[in-house]
Amino acid sequence: MRAFSYHRPDSVDAALRGVAGQSGTTTEAAVKFVAGGTNLLDLMKADVMRPERLVDISRLGLDRIEETADGGLRLGALARNADTAHDERVQARYPMLSKAILAGASAQLRNMATNGGNLLQRTRCYYFYDTGTPCNKREPGTGCGALTGVNRIHAILGASDRCIAVHPSDMCVALAALEAVVRVSGPRGERTIPFADFHRLPGDTPHIDSNLAADELITAIDLPAEGFADHSTYLKVRDRASYAFALVSVAAALEMDGQTVRTARLALGGVAHKPWRDPAAEAELAGRPASLESFRKAARVLLRDARGQSHNAFKIGLAERAIVRALAEAAGVEHP
Ligand SMILES: Cc1cc2nc3c(=O)[nH]c(=O)nc-3n(C[C@H](O)[C@H](O)[C@H](O)COP(=O)(O)OP(=O)(O)OC[C@H]3O[C@@H](n4cnc5c(N)ncnc54)[C@H](O)[C@@H]3O)c2cc1C
Repeated sequence: MRAFSYHRPDSVDAALRGVAGQSGTTTEAAVKFVAGGTNLLDLMKADVMRPERLVDISRLGLDRIEETADGGLRLGALARNADTAHDERVQARYPMLSKAILAGASAQLRNMATNGGNLLQRTRCYYFYDTGTPCNKREPGTGCGALTGVNRIHAILGASDRCIAVHPSDMCVALAALEAVVRVSGPRGERTIPFADFHRLPGDTPHIDSNLAADELITAIDLPAEGFADHSTYLKVRDRASYAFALVSVAAALEMDGQTVRTARLALGGVAHKPWRDPAAEAELAGRPASLESFRKAARVLLRDARGQSHNAFKIGLAERAIVRALAEAAGVEHP
């Protein structure tokens, strides 16, 4: 592990002064915030990330979960994943989110991990972690070890010829389906980022995971009033029953009119560089009967451009079945 300096401010302003003057995006920054440290410290120990300075934000008091004026909830960036998942309001009004968080990591990790850190956790691509192999995400321009290597856990949607890594978060998949909003503070004031615009596809710049600037701090995540509490679920398919990242996951949320779907939200994890939403697949469900047949149709629309690599083509069929099962569970339709 390389030497770095450490600073622990006690206010948002002081934390922002700690990263002031940095340009570009947060993934490129030499000075980094550290929250629970469950991802960043691992990456530093593996020499994958090499910040020169850490600004510890754990004492900023951004750990509350509060009501918003429009009937939603504001999740503090420093609220722990465990406290968020077990919050009674989250459980009652956003059960899909609670389920998604609890599907991730382990109890010990969720007790340390924060909501802001969860959004910015980095990919679990083996080649990203292995500094002896090329990786455009870790070292731009070196190549992609996964493209010709072992790519069983990699992307089937939205990948580029530079990077086929996937975003590993469970929580973010539910936040994408809920259309949460990320609240950010920086030297240019406060701003909000719709969840769909927070993470990026790899394109030519796979080293940049999100649109957060290097001098900005996530302060909270706002959940809209609509939580789809009556008809939603999070389904995670993985190699082990616990303590494993998703091969494919699905957040499914429906508004129902009797046995007809009024509106649908579908977000997939484990398949792309960001939580994957597809308006065409959601439109396919609107106004249709809640049946396995229409769920299958929507799944095929969502996966129309899916492309497998040498070891992960199985994910396409897996994703189709997972979407159908999640929609059936959300709608209360019997599924074989
Ligand atoms: C063994 C293991 C298994 C795991 N399994 C899963 C899993 O199955 N599903 C899953 O979803 N996750 C899983 N995780 C990941 C875990 O959820 C993340 O490590 C955690 O959410 C990161 O939060 P943190 O507060 O510890 O972030 P940190 O490690 O402190 O920070 C992560 C990144 O976020 C930045 N950051 C943190 N907070 C802010 C902020 N407020 N503003 C701006 N930047 C910020 C940091 O600079 C850093 O770049 C696993 C982790 C481990 C170690």
